[in-house]
Amino acid sequence: MIANDWRIRREIIEIGKLLYERGLSAATDGNISFRIAEDRILITASGTCLGELEPTDIIYADLSGNKLSGDGNVSSETPMHLAIYNCRADVKAVVHAHPPIATGFTIAGISLAGCVIPEIVMTMGEVPTTRYATPSTAEGASVVKELITNHDALLLDRHGAITIGRTLQEAFYKMEKIEYAAKVTLTARQLGNTRNLTAEELERLRKIAFPHRIDNSSCTGCGTCGD
Ligand SMILES: [Zn+2]
Repeated sequence: MIANDWRIRREIIEIGKLLYERGLSAATDGNISFRIAEDRILITASGTCLGELEPTDIIYADLSGNKLSGDGNVSSETPMHLAIYNCRADVKAVVHAHPPIATGFTIAGISLAGCVIPEIVMTMGEVPTTRYATPSTAEGASVVKELITNHDALLLDRHGAITIGRTLQEAFYKMEKIEYAAKVTLTARQLGNTRNLTAEELERLRKIAFPHRIDNSSCTGCGTCGD
């Protein structure tokens, strides 16, 4: 057994409870994983409720998605997690959930990219929406792969959201912030006026928050600003 195995299992259980209790994931939706060794992850098992996880509901898999040990099967959405671990060496934790308001934005075809709330741009950058993919298929992994190299949080078209971090808590906070951004944006839309950040304001924010990113000055074409 890997040294910090039980500590990580406890953290996954804790984050699962928070996601469930805060309404970010219903019934058996969503999954959580952590890269516990270079070639090994802990991931929640298929069909488990994130609010009621037991230590045995979290199983070992390799970076090809093969189950190594534990009860149950790896989550059917494991390929999305692996796509991220395989292309982002800096990522240790992945959280996938179905935050209802943010998911509603994707169903309405409205982007939730971070061009509206400066604080969101500062903490996790823009939140683009992937192309549509049938959940629990290899297609889901490939649409995530297209965007995750340069983003830490994505909306999955008509499905949910996925966030990453160096810790489980960091990935959870990003998921919580996605739903917060969705609530704020929805409120502004209901009030009848959404004022977007200008391209210059956005560029300034990106340069402060992500000075090493290559495409800091380029628009991702999310369409939020109508350009
Ligand atoms: Zn899902």
